[in-house]
Amino acid sequence: MKRISRYLTPYTGCIILAFVLILIRVFGELSLPNLMSMIVDNGISNSDMPYIWKMGSIMLVVALVSTFAIIMMDFFGAKISTGFARDVRKSVFHKVQLFSNAEFDKLGASSLLTRTINDITQLQNFLTIFIRIVMMCPLMMFGSIFLAFSKNASMAVIFTALIPFLLVIIVLVSKFAVPLSTVIQRKVDRINLVIREKLTGIRVIRAFNKEDFEEKRFDDANRDLTQTMIKLQKIASVLMPAMSLVLNGGTIAVVWIGSHKISAGSLQVGDMMAVLQYIMHVMMSLMMLSMVFIMYPRAEASANRISEVLETEPVIEDPKQPKTPMGQKGEVEFKNVSFYYENSDEPALKNISFCAKPGQVTAIIGSTGSGKSTLIHLIPRLYDVSEGEVLVDGLNVKDYTQHELREKIGFVPQKAVLFSGTIKSNLLWGKENASDEEIRLAADTAQSTDFIMTKEDGFEAHIAQGGTNVSGGQKQRLAIARAIIKKPEIYIFDDSFSALDFKTDANLRAALAKQTKESTVIIVAQRVSTIMHADQILVLDEGKLFGCGTHQELFETCDVYREIVLSQLTKEEMA
Ligand code: ADP
Ligand code: MG
Repeated sequence: MKRISRYLTPYTGCIILAFVLILIRVFGELSLPNLMSMIVDNGISNSDMPYIWKMGSIMLVVALVSTFAIIMMDFFGAKISTGFARDVRKSVFHKVQLFSNAEFDKLGASSLLTRTINDITQLQNFLTIFIRIVMMCPLMMFGSIFLAFSKNASMAVIFTALIPFLLVIIVLVSKFAVPLSTVIQRKVDRINLVIREKLTGIRVIRAFNKEDFEEKRFDDANRDLTQTMIKLQKIASVLMPAMSLVLNGGTIAVVWIGSHKISAGSLQVGDMMAVLQYIMHVMMSLMMLSMVFIMYPRAEASANRISEVLETEPVIEDPKQPKTPMGQKGEVEFKNVSFYYENSDEPALKNISFCAKPGQVTAIIGSTGSGKSTLIHLIPRLYDVSEGEVLVDGLNVKDYTQHELREKIGFVPQKAVLFSGTIKSNLLWGKENASDEEIRLAADTAQSTDFIMTKEDGFEAHIAQGGTNVSGGQKQRLAIARAIIKKPEIYIFDDSFSALDFKTDANLRAALAKQTKESTVIIVAQRVSTIMHADQILVLDEGKLFGCGTHQELFETCDVYREIVLSQLTKEEMA
């Protein structure tokens, strides 16, 4: 809560203004019973019409002013709470942008989404209520009690008799409601997770006929949340009648005692009516406050979940004094690099050393899970090494700013990701100001012109969210074109050719070779045919480097490599 509340500082002015408006409103509403009692006691008993008109007009003005104050206060309240939510959301988003893959692994994309949207909305709603109720009710309450006592102390004493009853009700309700309210946010999280998994995995779910299973899983989560909510509402609904009971009990007591006093001549009718209204104000205030008690735990849970994001410091940060390398060619060197994922004791990479030179193609081959993707993620510093160092142009990647380092690299991830927009807008990600000529050349090189041209709108063809309206191979080719258009010094292809047929694969590599004569090219692949002509092949297995050399050298000296080759190529192909 504390960390989050500092986001309110810019709104101090608005809050003070809202408070002033609240004061006006409270003054207005509290003076109405008083004015009324004057009309009843002086105006009606003396049949003094002018007096009644005068006081009535004053009441009308007071009522109008306090209504105006209510409207303005709601306006400022909305301004504060939505502005606050906007600022927090912006901070969270900004923070998440700084996260490296390690932080995403830890917090989880699904939860980050709920936190940015649902939790912040929760806080916003609470803030609205806080401004309306928590700032106003205590004033209203103590004001009413004070005025009731000054009006007629002997009647106001009845208040004091009611308060213990009210406190018991509030304590009982909060005792049962607060724990429920705390778990609700966790259950909402659970529903989000189930829905998200269901939506992203819809094809798999259908293919495996798991709709029933998923439905049940959702039903369970949904019912769980519903039941908790119902329980909470049941408890909260006790509040109203119980309070009413006490309130009406108080009213009866006031009227009963009051009427005796009135007939004895020691109390005026107007005063009794005023005290009744003050009692009403006290009750309403207490009731609204107790609602806030019930809501608070949920808001606090949300605040904590947001703080957790804001307080997570990304492990990968830019150096204080970034350096710029002398030569700008794109040489990549690994020196005794080992890497552990945070949640595992086994190294994903162990003592890897090699050098990828500009103008050469360096290929990495190995079975799935051998650490190929892990290795190349270290080059753009998506993760930091655990031991050893990664050098680009002779300079440790940690000495670059992340921006400058990544400027040098054209990265095609294993799982191609496109963004909603058009084909062109996706390609322009590689280079914002690329000319049509450059776009066409990149598309040509990536062997994607053919399928782009079959689309009605060509380069302006629509790409759906996540690129779901193009095939896996088309997606990969667009991702490759996006990297090519950037004309980087270092090209990294993570298994980018696996979804292509052999012929397209070969054509693409031939076209690429022309474009990348000066650059460092690193290709991860599982197919031997994709990499056998590389200048240097690294053979990875279980995170260890088993060999490094050309196809011919490795075939003769490296058992692991020979096994891979023999399992894939026929005798004729090898010859
Ligand atoms: P490859 O790309 O060669 O198929 P990876 O580099 O993706 O293999 O994975 C190497 C090993 O690291 C695997 O055993 C995998 O389970 C593990 N691994 C990959 N990503 C993560 C991660 N984010 N957290 C923990 N372990 C991971
Ligand atoms: Mg991989």
